[in-house]
Amino acid sequence: MKNIAVIGTGYVGLVTGVALSEIGHSVICVDIDEQKVASMREGISPIYEPGLSELMKKNYEAGRLSFTTSHEMAFAGADAIYIAVGTPQKEDGTADLRFIESVARNIAEYLADYAVVVTKSTVPVGTNDYIKQYIEKHTDVPFDVVSNPEFLREGSAVHDTFNGDRIVIGSSTGLAASILKEINKPFGIPIFKTDIRSSEMIKYASNAFLATKISFVNEIAALCEKLGANVDDVAQGMGQDKRIGEKFLNAGIGYGGSCFPKDTSALVQIAGNVEHEFTLLKAVIEVNYKQQRLLIDKAREHFDSLRGKTIAMLGTAFKPNTDDMREAASTILARELVLAGANVVAYDPVAMEPARKLFPEAVDFVDSVESALDGADAAFLVTEWDEFKELTPAQYVSFLKEPVLFDGRNCYDLEKMKAAGIEYYSVGRPVVK
Ligand code: NAD
Repeated sequence: MKNIAVIGTGYVGLVTGVALSEIGHSVICVDIDEQKVASMREGISPIYEPGLSELMKKNYEAGRLSFTTSHEMAFAGADAIYIAVGTPQKEDGTADLRFIESVARNIAEYLADYAVVVTKSTVPVGTNDYIKQYIEKHTDVPFDVVSNPEFLREGSAVHDTFNGDRIVIGSSTGLAASILKEINKPFGIPIFKTDIRSSEMIKYASNAFLATKISFVNEIAALCEKLGANVDDVAQGMGQDKRIGEKFLNAGIGYGGSCFPKDTSALVQIAGNVEHEFTLLKAVIEVNYKQQRLLIDKAREHFDSLRGKTIAMLGTAFKPNTDDMREAASTILARELVLAGANVVAYDPVAMEPARKLFPEAVDFVDSVESALDGADAAFLVTEWDEFKELTPAQYVSFLKEPVLFDGRNCYDLEKMKAAGIEYYSVGRPVVK
């Protein structure tokens, strides 16, 4: 059992802290957001993530997990200090490292005894060297820095933490690597050991590759539409080849969220810094830009003008099972629809509060999918929540003014839509009229 401090209680920090306490470590999570800390102390998770609240409460009550706003208190007696603060995107596409810099200051100020500083945050190659140099300059207390990038997916973060494919540990010392191995052993997940810079690169390369798969299949989808093929079948046929794999081959309205958009941009910039033009990744980003606006293009083609039309928006979160709205396609679609003079009525099972803050004021929010559809001229299916996948064609027919559906996630069977008389536009599949 180790004493562990986790800095930052967002999607990564809180899930990591809770999981480390679940496998028996004594964990103290520190955040500068007093409201978040107060809420966690009351047993309420500040984020929506399936299974997290229960596990957090269980370990909090068992005394293995605690929360504080004091870095000094968190670092006292810590064997390892995990950094899990945000690394958002700056205007110019580069990674904004101000939270990392402030954490380096916190550690330099309050480190009392040897600890391994573990960077979970996604940081550009070379950042761990910076963290090490900064802390070394400001304290005499010994420490090591390890890169330990995070691969969890929002919406299944708890599951992923206990069932990951690998744990990457980038370290320049045997001692730090062995402490990390010991901490992670109870997870029973294969550990891949490498140097710090390669570890930092593994994270960016992995996200860039997954984004590439998505944009690739979306380009194939665009071709399928023009050539009369069905992208779902094409992807299935491709995916059965083990060299390709079936995952991340779902055509749709592109990737969003807090990672792929910012990490692909950051990697283009990281490459640019060493005079390498990452042509492929730039194209991946460009395809995604178009893809996130695809439903508007299809709706414009159908209606000629969207002025005065009422559009039911089903889903606002960037993907199902999360309340995260960062870089969600819904934000772009809501803005474009309002600009085009349409009325937007939106519903999401969990992400309406964060959506309200990002959507134009003109958007109406309702508390059920039926109310969203009721009397609308068309529906945009934006997030593939189970609740929407389970809707029957008859429900669309009975609620919508005319049964017109633009499905950004290919949720329904073409034949069933045809049989119900729905005008159905999806991605990379024949239009049903
Ligand atoms: P987040 O924005 O949800 O949470 C960051 C938290 O850090 C906030 O609660 C903030 O108040 C806190 N914080 C900032 N500065 C602090 C300080 N000095 N001391 C204590 N707390 C501080 O971020 P996130 O989505 O959890 O992402 C964290 C990192 O993990 C990022 O680098 C991200 O790229 C990476 N990552 C995220 C995911 C994901 O799915 N969200 C997956 C893999 C990797």
